[in-house]
Amino acid sequence: MATQSGSGASCPCGLRLPYAACCGRLHAGQATAATAEALMRSRYSAFAVSEAAYLLRTWHRATRPPQVRFDPDDRWSRLDILGKTGGGLLDAEGTVEFTAHYRHRGVARTLHENSRFVRDAGDWAYLDAAPPAS
Ligand SMILES: [Zn+2]
Repeated sequence: MATQSGSGASCPCGLRLPYAACCGRLHAGQATAATAEALMRSRYSAFAVSEAAYLLRTWHRATRPPQVRFDPDDRWSRLDILGKTGGGLLDAEGTVEFTAHYRHRGVARTLHENSRFVRDAGDWAYLDAAPPAS
C-alpha cells in the first residue's frame, strides 16, 4: 500500500486513509466494494461529500429512489460500525448496523440503522433497513 504524505484529509468513513485512496476510489468507479461493510462506509462517505450518483448506483433497483437530495444543513461527522452479519467475499447478503453522527444546523443528531445489503449482478447493493439487531 502506498504511503501518502499528510496532505489529504482522512476519509469521511473513519478509516485512516486519504479519501482518494479509500471511498474516493469507489465513488470514482475505479473500484467496487468487496464487502457489505466497505459499501456501507462508502455510502456514508457519499453522503458526506454529496455523491448522489454513487448512492443511486449502489442502491438496489428494487428499492432505489428516483433521486437523492442532500440537506445542505447536514454535516456528517462520524460513522460507527456497531455490528454486521454476512457481507463477506463469499456471501450473497449481509447486514451492517451502524450509527452515523451528524450535525443539523449545529445540533448533534444520530442515525441508527441496521442496513441490509445483497449482491446485485455481483456487486454489493444497499437494499433497505432491517429491524435493529438488538
Ligand atoms: Zn473511506
